[in-house]
Amino acid sequence: MNKRLLIINTGGTIGMRQTEHGYMPDANLLDHQLQQITEQWGGKMPEYEVLNYSPLLDSANFCPADWLRIADDIVQHYQAFDAFLVLHGTDTMAYTASALAFMLRGLEKNVILTGSQLPLSLRRNDARENLVTAMIIASEHHVPEVCVLFGNALLRGCRTTKTSATSFDAFVSPNAAPLATIGTQIRVFEDRVYRPSQIDNEVSILPIQNAAVATLRLFPGLDPRVLENVLQTPLQGLVLESYGAGNGPSHDREFLATLQRANERGVVIVNISQCRHGSVTQNDYATGRALADAGVVSGNDMTIEAALTKLMFLFSRELPTETIRHEIDRNLVGELTSR
Ligand code: ASP
Repeated sequence: MNKRLLIINTGGTIGMRQTEHGYMPDANLLDHQLQQITEQWGGKMPEYEVLNYSPLLDSANFCPADWLRIADDIVQHYQAFDAFLVLHGTDTMAYTASALAFMLRGLEKNVILTGSQLPLSLRRNDARENLVTAMIIASEHHVPEVCVLFGNALLRGCRTTKTSATSFDAFVSPNAAPLATIGTQIRVFEDRVYRPSQIDNEVSILPIQNAAVATLRLFPGLDPRVLENVLQTPLQGLVLESYGAGNGPSHDREFLATLQRANERGVVIVNISQCRHGSVTQNDYATGRALADAGVVSGNDMTIEAALTKLMFLFSRELPTETIRHEIDRNLVGELTSR
């Protein structure tokens, strides 16, 4: 039986057209071009319906309410469709993919986010390939988690980060092997699909609301007074981008004391490495141990996007601070490698 696909078009470059004011979203154009592609390939393409958001958004304008809207639409249409494709701008796609992975529980169907660097309406583009490949994988393979399809790979959504503003292979998942590789053949590794330890019987949403979180990148010469300011109310959680295996300036007593005071006030400070590959350990060096002693918790090998959305997700659950600190280093949906 032919699979039914729901294409949720949130916006982004993929469906834009070139105007004298720059690229602008155009829902009709996308519908028309999709029709052309599927007519050309007749019965070889899945049946689909398009849900166009209004207004279509540049993903730089996304906020948590938009993540929730996508999650709601997937759950509302869950019984009527076999798989879900989310067309999305590339700029914040990794945040949306991470947020959806935390929010959507009990998924038994594929949810694939895709977009492109050049619109479908241009003579030369990466949009057509991404769209067609995503439709094929969504309807012919079983990858029941939130994924990002871009260029030559299908990646776990909550492990994904955008690394190029220009390349057609704009996304990587540095600490998780791809779920599929895409070249002359599509090779899907169904054995890599994340299997939750707790199986939910039906799909549901654990919503993410806005939370006061931030990220701060360490650099030699960071003034502790700047850190002190960042850590003030209303901040609830900070992703601290440390060096290497999770290290910071352990000789800077004021820096450490500032972290410690914020920690005692209940701010959750998560240690994520500036290095894309590998994991924070906080045990290897005295400079990492000093952060742990100041109350900073290891974010393991999460991406910045996953760490920020995970903090927002945990704060939305209204859990006690100590539980949040504990959950940060625990694998919830495949976002980190368990030690
Ligand atoms: N600014 C665009 C967006 O994120 C870029 C893109 O789609 O590639 O919506």
